[in-house]
Amino acid sequence: MERVDTVVVGAGVAGLTAARLLQDAGRTVVVLEARDRVGGRVHTDRTDGATDLGASWIHGVDGSPVAAAAAAFGMRTVEFTVGGYQVDGRPIANYGVDGRRLPDEAARAFAADVHAVDAVLPEVIAASAPEASYREATEEALERQGWDADRTQRVREYLEHRAEEQYGAWIEDLAAHGLDDDQIDGDEVVFPDGYGALPERLAQGLDVRLGHVVTGVDWTDGVLVHTGRGVFAGDTAVVTLPVGVLHSGAVDIVPPLPSANADALGRLRMNAFEKVFLRFPERFWDEGVYAIRQQGPEGRWWHSWYDLTAAHGRPTLLTFAAGPAATATRDWADEQVVASVMAQLRRLYGDRAVEPVAVHRTAWQDDPFAHGSYAYMTLGSTTADHDDLATPIGGVLHLAGEATWTDDPATVSAAMLSGHRAAERILGAAVPIERLWAD
Ligand SMILES: Cc1cc2nc3c(=O)[nH]c(=O)nc-3n(C[C@H](O)[C@H](O)[C@H](O)COP(=O)(O)OP(=O)(O)OC[C@H]3O[C@@H](n4cnc5c(N)ncnc54)[C@H](O)[C@@H]3O)c2cc1C
Repeated sequence: MERVDTVVVGAGVAGLTAARLLQDAGRTVVVLEARDRVGGRVHTDRTDGATDLGASWIHGVDGSPVAAAAAAFGMRTVEFTVGGYQVDGRPIANYGVDGRRLPDEAARAFAADVHAVDAVLPEVIAASAPEASYREATEEALERQGWDADRTQRVREYLEHRAEEQYGAWIEDLAAHGLDDDQIDGDEVVFPDGYGALPERLAQGLDVRLGHVVTGVDWTDGVLVHTGRGVFAGDTAVVTLPVGVLHSGAVDIVPPLPSANADALGRLRMNAFEKVFLRFPERFWDEGVYAIRQQGPEGRWWHSWYDLTAAHGRPTLLTFAAGPAATATRDWADEQVVASVMAQLRRLYGDRAVEPVAVHRTAWQDDPFAHGSYAYMTLGSTTADHDDLATPIGGVLHLAGEATWTDDPATVSAAMLSGHRAAERILGAAVPIERLWAD
């Protein structure tokens, strides 16, 4: 049995952040990671350029510790402020129900309608019943507008798509408060050389044991962490397992989580959210736009495409199978998904929409070390559930990870800040987060 001050479970951004800050403060730390790589849900595929299969965006660089770390590590960024499912602010080619591009004036009117609903939503959500869904809240906000059926339906679709793209959940399954902390401050950026450089840099100099699948965490006396390759003992442990892994029962926590943590965990659920990258021999879509969107029933699944050409250097569109589309296409072959997506692009661009030369599709739902992309709030959940999940356990066990951070959960910055908080709690002292990227 090996013994250290702190055992960290998971070498994603949360675990690496905690480990780095603890080691920097003089503690001995080991990081146990099931996969054969670090980064978890930040993962760049480098077989053909740099394709980010997990996180792509910093959702707002102002005040972001991820942006500060990326700058300190010399990671190149490209501005791409459309990752928060914005309706405007950057050029977007909007297509109407008939498959034709909306004239600018109609697109502006549609965006104004979305803003009108967004203006009343916070008040409606604040007054919503504890078990209310995001659907119920948005329906009330729509009703207050007094619009005709068509006008209402266009915005309703947009709100459904926003719930799906932001949280990978069907709008009726997402809590009314589910998007409360979805803040974007400043520009959004992506990484042309891959987000994966961030965890790779964070892992430098740490004792990370890859291929160590944790099967049990016993916090009866200090912490014993069981893996297929031995037991690791620590005075404390930071466990950054995704919500889907905690729910799966693959890791036996003994004694079971106290109710403060367990109740919060019970109200959070892993989502269904997959990326589909399509690389084309040439670009056939509108010039100078960040994204293409289509309205109407044809856009139920495939409604938005993001132009990654500037980031990838080759004509590339990214679309998402999000929520119901991800669940329904989970077992489809790539060819089936591509045919389904291309049918929609051909509605908009006709024969100019040629077949892609390369396709990359993620399968986070089937990943045993994630069980989905990130967590969302089910009905009855409140934003405090995130912080409650991280309530320290027995003075020795600390849960961290994207789902444990209330302000902007489901992001890389949430993961980083939760790891920082766990390290501070263990050290019993404030630690500047800048220590993470200091030499
Ligand atoms: C498709 C997709 C798109 C996303 N887009 C964005 C985005 O644009 N911007 C953004 O900010 N965020 C985005 N996210 C979310 C972001 O990637 C996550 O919030 C963040 O990376 C989570 O970090 P974490 O450390 O909490 O968890 P993880 O990165 O999942 O780390 C947990 C680690 O634990 C390991 N593990 C699991 N089970 C075991 C076990 N039994 N034993 C040992 N180790 C185990 C895992 O392998 C993993 O390495 C996206 C995620 C996905 C999947």
